[in-house]
Amino acid sequence: MAKKKPLAIVVHGGADPDSDHIHSNKKAYEAGIRQAVDEGCMVLEKGGSAVDAVEAAVVSLENNPLLNAGRGSALNANGEVEMDAAIMRGNDQASGAVTLVRNIRNPISLAKAVMMNTKYRFLGDMGALEYAKKIDIRLEPSSYFITEHQFDLFSKKREEEFTSSDHIGMDQLNARMHGTVGAVALDRDGNLAAATSTGGTENKKMGRIGDSCIIGAGCYAKNSTCAISGTGDGELLIKNITAYDISALMEYKGLSLQQACEAVVLDRTDPGEGDVGVIGVDLQGNIALVFNSERMHRGWKTSAKKQGVEIYPKKQN
Ligand code: ASP
Repeated sequence: MAKKKPLAIVVHGGADPDSDHIHSNKKAYEAGIRQAVDEGCMVLEKGGSAVDAVEAAVVSLENNPLLNAGRGSALNANGEVEMDAAIMRGNDQASGAVTLVRNIRNPISLAKAVMMNTKYRFLGDMGALEYAKKIDIRLEPSSYFITEHQFDLFSKKREEEFTSSDHIGMDQLNARMHGTVGAVALDRDGNLAAATSTGGTENKKMGRIGDSCIIGAGCYAKNSTCAISGTGDGELLIKNITAYDISALMEYKGLSLQQACEAVVLDRTDPGEGDVGVIGVDLQGNIALVFNSERMHRGWKTSAKKQGVEIYPKKQN
């Protein structure tokens, strides 16, 4: 009897410091992660592509107001939402990305449209909005994206800046606040895909772009190695070219997915430099979920009957 081809989906909801908000909403966070895994998995089980599966999972996370992407995005220093997203296909390494987008309900779907239907790989700001309008991507008023929780964080930060006696710089304040979403998948045809979407860091300077939409930093997929979605301090993931570095260690040094993720996130990153978290999958259906932060919301389901949702550190595979 022919062996069934492996399927796998992994999602994350950001690698951050722990908080009271996370503790008091733990069940709701877990339910949101589980739902995203199920939505991506449904696509894979029906024979859909890894690209469609990661899009479905990320749309579910973007629509979840608890997470920092789509609705619930972090506010920038002007109190506005500017979002970044990227998607990449492992078989031909096609990719699509958008940055600094406003009013787009699901930035990941716009990134996918850039990948599938344009000759470009990266659209930003007003040009991305113009393209979204042309292809009837769903738009929402600015108020849709701003949740009470994000507004409270924004107001608190503002207050800290005004009252801080030890002159904490904006960078230090920003370094503690993030929470992106992402997904990686392996489909029945043996193709990998990765997707990442974010509102970026809390109180970021207007126009700041993080790693999530940068291919190789917060998102990467190549069938011969792995699919990776990253989260954490964007400037650090950009510096380390985190997602590509994992793939390169597998390609050039023959490391396994787990070894490569641990090498990049745990061995090569000084924890004092900031938070980094990654999820990954390879063509055999092996998965990895590695982070150096206090927590990373994460969920996974594979045809090898591995399944789970976790927030805090624990050995899961
Ligand atoms: N990496 C994202 C950024 O810097 C934030 C996060 O992952 O929480 O924009």
